[in-house]
Amino acid sequence: MTEKYDLTKKKNKVSVRNGKVLHCPKCKEYLITDYNKNVEIDSCLKCKGVWVDHLEEKDILEIKPAVFTLDEVKRLMKLYKPLEKRQEAGYVPCPICKQLMWKSNWGGFSGVMVDKCGKHGTWFDDGEIEKIKEYVSLGGIEFQKARLVERGMEEVNHKFLMEVYRLDKKIDSAYMRARLFSKF
Ligand SMILES: [Zn+2]
Ligand SMILES: [Zn+2]
Repeated sequence: MTEKYDLTKKKNKVSVRNGKVLHCPKCKEYLITDYNKNVEIDSCLKCKGVWVDHLEEKDILEIKPAVFTLDEVKRLMKLYKPLEKRQEAGYVPCPICKQLMWKSNWGGFSGVMVDKCGKHGTWFDDGEIEKIKEYVSLGGIEFQKARLVERGMEEVNHKFLMEVYRLDKKIDSAYMRARLFSKF
């Protein structure tokens, strides 16, 4: 499952977008165009990081339509150990538009912090693609959906309880007023 991209096999073709050479956001080396099962990726020979355009992410991470039941996901997620938090080197620029990318816990719960450009794609450090593929294969996508639903339910529940409390108070004070002004 942890197949690595064989960086020695490529023809060392420097990655270019819109006539501009792409650089690694972390170590500034040229990115090299590589293929993983016919999907184009841009990788850095020095730090082994990988740039993946938004459209290609699904294929690279082998994300398939939902295949897990909620019970399966709960059981499987117990097997998943998030990566140890790596030293965060601060915000780095998107190789395409040079805007600083934001840090994102991939999929909400994978524990893999990736650098993301909302417009263009995601930067994965060495080993992160394999880790996310593991997360996805254990049902990470379905787990995230389940958690979001749960969270939504918690919020609805909380609002409901607050409303009950508010009404209780109102009824209480109405009752008190009625007692104060009644003739009994
Ligand atoms: Zn690099
Ligand atoms: Zn960008």
